[in-house]
Amino acid sequence: MKENETTDTGCNEVSDYHLINPKNTINILKKYDIHFQKKYGQNFLIDSHVMNKIIRAADIGSDDLVLEIGPGIGTMTQFLCENAGRVIAVEIDKKLIPVLEDTLERYDNVNIIQGDILKQDITKLAEEYNGGKPVKIVANLPYYITTPIIMGVLENEVPVKSLTVMVQKEVAERMQAKPGTKVYGALSLAVQYYSKPYLAANVPENCFMPRPNVASAVINLDCFDEPPVKVKNKKLMFEIIRASFQQRRKTLCNGIRNYSGLDIPNEAVVNTLEEMGLDASVRGEKLTLDQYAAFTNMIEKFNVCS
Ligand code: SAM
Repeated sequence: MKENETTDTGCNEVSDYHLINPKNTINILKKYDIHFQKKYGQNFLIDSHVMNKIIRAADIGSDDLVLEIGPGIGTMTQFLCENAGRVIAVEIDKKLIPVLEDTLERYDNVNIIQGDILKQDITKLAEEYNGGKPVKIVANLPYYITTPIIMGVLENEVPVKSLTVMVQKEVAERMQAKPGTKVYGALSLAVQYYSKPYLAANVPENCFMPRPNVASAVINLDCFDEPPVKVKNKKLMFEIIRASFQQRRKTLCNGIRNYSGLDIPNEAVVNTLEEMGLDASVRGEKLTLDQYAAFTNMIEKFNVCS
């Protein structure tokens, strides 16, 4: 493996062999006659400042096993290999495998797996390559499956220490949104139940080849060992959250009443809100995660649906 090349400021030095510039990216694409696959969300990173921000936010050291989702032609994988102990890179596009074997040839700490990340058993990968210890996920995610990937990892409680991922800016904002804001919703609450989100960088369209239609952002999700709130019935809490954001402009009472997955008498909802010091006309978007947990613990006995 090549020596870890970082400067005093913690930045990775960029050398001629690195793909992180338009010229080297175009050369590789031409060499292998690669055409961008829109269906796989292929937008390759070409900006070294953004790359450095990702690597810094991911806080990778030589003890870490990194799982990269969608390495593409290996642009980010090169830097991951230079910072991590080992990198497992899962790429769905068969045509990119010979490219990766070429661009990552100088590293002996990388395993390339051809396949769909949604079908990979991450727990098994952690056992096989990291003695069962949690892995760090780093990815410039294909936007068409951002939420299933992130929620799949968080909800299934697989051994993951953190996720540092490039997503659509709007999705990053929703993940770290606070109560009462326009973008606060079920995704904010789910992400904040499992992790601490931190927006590491805003990334404009011109940092990719080809340019995506939307602005992007890098978000770091530091996974909790224990959730920040205690809730006896987690499934019920997320049903209540879903119910209250299904019709954003409706009150929490109406949201619960109109949601088919719940059967809670309206009177119980009103009384519980009152006990919590909340008005019966409160909207779901005003409640904090703490309040959702408390509400769930108090209302559970009234729910007829299991
Ligand atoms: N990491 C590269 C970079 O930063 O330049 C490429 C990022 S590109 C936005 C997304 C990559 O994910 C593509 O290489 C694409 O083929 C791959 N991909 C898309 N869907 C995937 C899936 N279900 N499983 C694994 N890889 C996938």
